[in-house]
Amino acid sequence: MNITHSPLVATNWINGKWEIGNGERSLRYNPANVNEPVGEIAFSSQKEVALAEKAAHQALPHWRKLTGNQRANYLYAMATALENNTDEIAELATREMGKPIGEMKGEVARGIQLLKYYAAEGVRADGDVIPSSANGVLQYTKRIALGVVGLITPWNFPVAIPIWKLAPALICGNTIIWKPAENGSLTAYKLCRIFEEADLPEGVINLVIGKGKEVGTYLTEEAEINGLSFTGSTYTGTRLAGVCAQRNIKYQTEMGGKNAAIVLNDADLNTAVPAIVSGTFRSAGQKCTASSRIIVEEGIYDSFIEAIKSEMEKVKLTNPLDKDAYLGPVASKEQHRKVNLYVELAKKESNIIHENKDELSEDGYYVNPLVIEGISKSHPLFQDEIFGPIAAVLKVKDYQEAIDTFNDTKYGLSGSVFTTNLAKAHQFLEDAEAGMVRVNLETAGVEYQAPFGGLKQSSSHTREQGQEALKFYSNIKTCAIKYE
Ligand code: NAD
Repeated sequence: MNITHSPLVATNWINGKWEIGNGERSLRYNPANVNEPVGEIAFSSQKEVALAEKAAHQALPHWRKLTGNQRANYLYAMATALENNTDEIAELATREMGKPIGEMKGEVARGIQLLKYYAAEGVRADGDVIPSSANGVLQYTKRIALGVVGLITPWNFPVAIPIWKLAPALICGNTIIWKPAENGSLTAYKLCRIFEEADLPEGVINLVIGKGKEVGTYLTEEAEINGLSFTGSTYTGTRLAGVCAQRNIKYQTEMGGKNAAIVLNDADLNTAVPAIVSGTFRSAGQKCTASSRIIVEEGIYDSFIEAIKSEMEKVKLTNPLDKDAYLGPVASKEQHRKVNLYVELAKKESNIIHENKDELSEDGYYVNPLVIEGISKSHPLFQDEIFGPIAAVLKVKDYQEAIDTFNDTKYGLSGSVFTTNLAKAHQFLEDAEAGMVRVNLETAGVEYQAPFGGLKQSSSHTREQGQEALKFYSNIKTCAIKYE
């Protein structure tokens, strides 16, 4: 099919072939300038998922029989290909979903590290020798592939999240059907074009571009898959988890967050304030680990407010392609509408501590960042995952009120405390109901070699990244050999 009116069409990659989906078309525009088309998406239907399913099953016997070392060589080749295309894919992703280019390049670098990290797992020990109760019996465990794994990914980390699923899944011997978010599909397509350079066997990675309610639903409810790894909202994730549990498909759901940073009376504000501003406003607040609740002990409250006002003077809204951009637009029209509803609510029901007065291009989905106070801890601005550049500050009388407030949310992804008191730091690490807890560090920025995931409504019961991801993408087989 000839595309004449746009430079790029997000195309499926199924069984090693590039084929445009037969469904509806959608032109995608740059969120920093909605007059600039970035490319076009061709949505797929169940038919294409079924083709991907067939391809992934056909590719499985060969792929899982390769040695870990052989699979590792493909992952190293994928890393090299990505390294050679860093600028191109980072720029495309910035134009597709608005993340500042510096952060986007950092995300691509994270993807390269993840590929190399999991490649190295191909030759690492993967089981235990367990003493048998009988003489002459060797008993041990080994990791085996799950089989065909479905990956469903969100738009906010369009390179790193897919890779932190793909890389461990591949090294464990699984084949893949990947459905990216609608608003990350151009980047997903480009990523697969780059991975094609690694000469993977046909059908090992299958990309199906489509809508959640059509392609995602079919992938989860009908396709013959052996595992599903999902990242996205809690609303979608909990529903998919229910379906997988009924079908007895191993699943992993990484979902929303409403992360908090606590500032105690003895905090060093020179450390706390830049970290809190970075954790809250980078990526325009659209990270699952972004801080959006700032809980401040009363003895340091006034100094904190002065310090954050002054730090916010450095934060400027700019075109995300500017080399030094810190804060760009939000990712889409839908995000812009949703975040602006919360901005209106904040203007009605809170005290504004700081609002940028940057002149906004009307052609982009820009939102001036806000720091607010004067709302209760049950207020929607303090409870809902806004996913935008808004920080709500709450004054508390002591540590106990701070930690009670911190824990008073359905989410439990990440959290920080800022303190110079070691005992209080340890106390926080004990008391905080979140999967990733940090002292004198921002709530975002967790490293790839460490487990990633949350508690409560933020995650299911597994972890991504680090060694933990290998546990999700494999099963354990217990082997015993009588040799005497
Ligand atoms: P979303 O739930 O709307 O969509 C995520 C993915 O699920 C997309 O690919 C979408 O097409 C698909 N989907 C939607 N409905 C589906 C259905 N019925 N069946 C199958 N698939 C379906 O989330 P989003 O708006 O793309 O992403 C933002 C959310 O992701 C935020 O809540 C954020 O906190 C969360 N997130 C979490 C993490 C984490 O690791 N915990 C990381 C990044 C983002």
